[in-house]
Amino acid sequence: MNMVILLGAPGSGKGTIAGRLAETNANLKHVSSGDLLRGAVAKGTPAGVEAKGFMERGQLVPDGLIAQMIKDVIAETQGDVTMLLDGFPRNVAQAEMLEATGAPIRSVVLVDVPDEIIQDRIAGRRTCPKCKAGYHVTALPPKVAGVCDKCGAELVVRKDDNPDTVKDRLVVYHRETEPLIAFYEAKGLLRKIDGNKGPVKNAEAFLAAM
Ligand code: AMP
Repeated sequence: MNMVILLGAPGSGKGTIAGRLAETNANLKHVSSGDLLRGAVAKGTPAGVEAKGFMERGQLVPDGLIAQMIKDVIAETQGDVTMLLDGFPRNVAQAEMLEATGAPIRSVVLVDVPDEIIQDRIAGRRTCPKCKAGYHVTALPPKVAGVCDKCGAELVVRKDDNPDTVKDRLVVYHRETEPLIAFYEAKGLLRKIDGNKGPVKNAEAFLAAM
């Protein structure tokens, strides 16, 4: 097992890229920290109860809480698998916790998208609450409006995708997560792709860079 970390702002397309690639490559596994947390919130687990308020405000949940979930996934992932880590680490402390697991990091790919474009993208984002597939009303619409192509569930707008919370999430990204660019650059692991070429080309560029 090894890992590729996807770095990028909320709405940069990390989840879409990782989801697409994992669907068509049996040895790639998409692990989204946001999906793990939303799952815990939906189930009402103790971790979910603790995380809920932070998530609704667009803040990071406590490092130890999400790090434990990621460690559990790492422990249960064996064999010839590359984990596409989407949303973790989100700050330097988490990156150090990840390093301490000893799981090898193959590369870190920054999906680069300017803030102005992020706001528009998130405004049109729709998510399947059941199978977690992601859509966009114009850039990546489902075949039937409002319905998931893959499992038929009704698509939703994530609670934290409202414009005010998105602004807060971007502030958090620049303050907490962006320092990871220099952190991984110093380790010679960083690659960068232009995340503004559309879902198919973004996924191709990512695969070539990782
Ligand atoms: P995402 O789906 O990656 O945009 O994550 C949604 C929300 O989950 C974030 O705004 C945070 O509240 C929380 N979250 C996800 N990943 C992490 C993480 N690595 N550390 C702290 N909070 C996280």
